[in-house]
Amino acid sequence: MPILNKTTPTKRLTLGISACLTGQKVRYNGAHKRAGFCLRLLDSIAELKPVCPEVGIGLGTPRQPIRLVATDRGVRARGSDDASLDVTEQLTEFGQRWGGAHDELDGFILTQKSPSCGMERVKIYRENGYPASHDGTGLFAAALRQAQPLLPIEEEGRLHDARLRENFFTRCYTYRAWRDQVGARPSHKALVAFHSQCKYLLMAHDPRACTELGRLIAQRPDDGQIEALCQRYISRCMQVLTKVATRRGHTNTLLHLLGYLKGKLSQGERDELLEGIHGYHQGHLPLVVPLRMMRHYLRLRGSRYVQQQRYLQPHPENLGLHNAI
Ligand code: SF4
Repeated sequence: MPILNKTTPTKRLTLGISACLTGQKVRYNGAHKRAGFCLRLLDSIAELKPVCPEVGIGLGTPRQPIRLVATDRGVRARGSDDASLDVTEQLTEFGQRWGGAHDELDGFILTQKSPSCGMERVKIYRENGYPASHDGTGLFAAALRQAQPLLPIEEEGRLHDARLRENFFTRCYTYRAWRDQVGARPSHKALVAFHSQCKYLLMAHDPRACTELGRLIAQRPDDGQIEALCQRYISRCMQVLTKVATRRGHTNTLLHLLGYLKGKLSQGERDELLEGIHGYHQGHLPLVVPLRMMRHYLRLRGSRYVQQQRYLQPHPENLGLHNAI
């Protein structure tokens, strides 16, 4: 039975997801793209809101495939067989509308390479049908990002990478905590409390940005300015968390946390903890080993402040996300 404190994530997430990934037969050829691994992972932790933007704009299933085409009117979504089919505006408007209507989301999982749902590296064709580049973004994905710039978004294929997976769920749970603790009722007190819980999480991702955010919240805003300050804070915070924390970043953070146990560990306990940290740093041990030891000692002997660091448990333990990094 895991030991819980105020910042242990326990609530179910609400995640948007490209409908074909859930097994719905909505692809242009009437097939699905069921993402078994992803669905098993999400089963116990998330409520899913599936959406297929191409079906959403009224294209039937099966249907003519579409693709992104570079034109002198910008990148357009056109039929692959019949270029007179152009659904650029429809897909963009649908994405804006759908994103605007779903502010309950904690994150979104998209299908790779799709001209509608692809987050990055989507193929763009020339008007003559030859491929031009691989740096496109699906039109629904782009409109969703515009409608909800803070929303953690990831592609299903990338979630097979343990570091990207851990990073995505860290962002989802942090964003959820922000919305619960600060977004619902912004105040300087709530902002300061949120930052103090996130300090070591931010440090693992980018120590300079952590200091920068600390300076930002140290400003006492004038009346009426608190919402703007909160917005600046969370925009930067989510940007920082998008950068995947490195082995060096985690090691540095663990060594900082060790400082809170100064004089509170026996020589043997301290040596064992340091061995775990160095083993992780050398790549011999997964992060879960030193992190679990650290959590154990901090819960027994740490201050309340350090016990509530989100870094110690940014996502539910049963996801095992620290076991593979
Ligand atoms: S990738 Fe997006 S648009 Fe294509 S079938 Fe899946 S949900 Fe629909």
